[in-house]
Amino acid sequence: MAKLDPAFAAAGETFAGAIHVTSDASGNSELFTNELAQRCGGLGVEFRLGVTAQGFVTDGDRVTGVRTDAGLLTADNYVLALGIQSPFLARTAGQRLPMYPAKGYSLTADVVDADATPAVGGVDEATLVAWSRFGDQLRISSTAEFAGFDRDWKYSDFSNILKTGRELFPTAVDWERARMRSCMRPMTPDGPPIEGRGKQRNLYYNTGHGHMGWTMACGSSRILADVVAGRPPALDTTPFQVRSHRVAA
Ligand SMILES: Cc1cc2nc3c(=O)[nH]c(=O)nc-3n(C[C@H](O)[C@H](O)[C@H](O)COP(=O)(O)OP(=O)(O)OC[C@H]3O[C@@H](n4cnc5c(N)ncnc54)[C@H](O)[C@@H]3O)c2cc1C
Repeated sequence: MAKLDPAFAAAGETFAGAIHVTSDASGNSELFTNELAQRCGGLGVEFRLGVTAQGFVTDGDRVTGVRTDAGLLTADNYVLALGIQSPFLARTAGQRLPMYPAKGYSLTADVVDADATPAVGGVDEATLVAWSRFGDQLRISSTAEFAGFDRDWKYSDFSNILKTGRELFPTAVDWERARMRSCMRPMTPDGPPIEGRGKQRNLYYNTGHGHMGWTMACGSSRILADVVAGRPPALDTTPFQVRSHRVAA
């Protein structure tokens, strides 16, 4: 590992080995999303940031509008993709979505010693702490808790992340000024995301991606775009169908 990524030199005594997955990669989802928004803007897409959707207006098997705090919005087709908030809005269209938050913690710190900061993203399988490098920042995340919809966090929630991070890369980043936050993975009980049409024929779902939503973002959006456009999707969508059942353990 130390040969592959010299940042591990300091941690040489603390681990026995590693698996190097050459097909794995990491990326900066915020940067990607902002760039994507810019390109979409060039294609005439309008983003209404800061607008909260409050409920669907339905007529038989069709959605005729979305009530928002900025008034009623109407469209030919609607795609519900609200992360862990999705079940609340779906309910206003009479659709139950089996999803529950798995709370996690994420820390982002500025790189102070580039040579001591890992270039290769990875996971410590013992502590389940994962890291990835975004240029001059290192992001480390961990933990899956069932804590309802409570987004609060305290410093001690990050002790696992800080202990593993400091052990592996002690001088890499400015640990003292690291930015911390908690976030929620929109989990389905059986695992696969929820893709496709539910009760209304012009309301589509693209949600429930759990711990892999960034990885699956482009693929699942492509599949959904094919479904909306009536093209055959690249994958069999049966496992992703809108389902309201709980799955027995
Ligand atoms: C600690 C942690 C680490 C993770 N690491 C990875 C990883 O390494 N790789 C990976 O692939 N995935 C990872 N994930 C999972 C990934 O972050 C999620 O699967 C993904 O963010 C889900 O995307 P989404 O667009 O469905 O939902 P979100 O990212 O939650 O986006 C939903 C959006 O809808 C908005 N919204 C909600 N309600 C309303 C409303 N009523 N009106 C208007 N807007 C609304 C929200 O403000 C939000 O902007 C991680 C998650 C956590 C918590």
